[in-house]
Amino acid sequence: MSVMLYEGKAKKIFATEKADEVVIYYKDDATAFNGLKKGTIVNKGIINNKLTEFFFQLLEKAGVKTHLIKRLSDRELLCKKVDVLPLEVVVRNIAAGSLSQRLGLPEGEWLAEPIVELYYKNDSLGDPLVNYYHIKALSLASPAQVAVLEKEALAVNGALTEHLLRKGIKLVDFKLEFGLHNGEILLADEITPDTCRLWDAATDDKLDKDRFRRDLGQVEDAYHEVLYRLTGEKE
Ligand code: UDP
Repeated sequence: MSVMLYEGKAKKIFATEKADEVVIYYKDDATAFNGLKKGTIVNKGIINNKLTEFFFQLLEKAGVKTHLIKRLSDRELLCKKVDVLPLEVVVRNIAAGSLSQRLGLPEGEWLAEPIVELYYKNDSLGDPLVNYYHIKALSLASPAQVAVLEKEALAVNGALTEHLLRKGIKLVDFKLEFGLHNGEILLADEITPDTCRLWDAATDDKLDKDRFRRDLGQVEDAYHEVLYRLTGEKE
């Protein structure tokens, strides 16, 4: 029996025999609005596990370093253990969600260029937006680290936008987390319909967690559709 190191909203982290490796187990639990809305998306854990493997392998080929070692099972990834930086990096190509609300931009409007935003990863504060001054004054990351996060986030955006569009999916926006492993910054956490806005390129139908957040129905179908278009797998 391996020791559970941490249980988050959508995943559990387990220790392995190796001190610098962990197993990440993907659950079906879904939350939104900082945990206020709770539910289950049937077999989401299997789909998100496979999608994270798919995206991280694609990104490694594009030169982005990730914490992924290999997929162990339907719901488990073996990963390098990282100290997660307390910043969430959001990249946006099309206005939606909090950006639309904050700046009054209609949902669906393409941005003239991608926007990178940094949020302080802190549930009790509701992950507030921060700038370089906040990050430096609160010692959340060094300016050099922030520069790496932004560069890597834009590299991820370039690689994923292109690939998804070829599969008929618009990458509206997404959130990344990074961690330190032996002093090196690695892309960590997940890339899934829980953490991205993905719209069908022809119809703008939502294929992501907004279906759960906004009670749009057919949540499972949307997650299945993304996995199928990207990997050809049904589950
Ligand atoms: N996002 C996320 N986790 C968070 C906040 C945002 O994965 O804690 C993702 C979200 O799914 C979307 C993008 O980051 O793809 C931008 O989210 P936004 O700031 O618009 O916030 P939301 O409208 O989701 O509250």
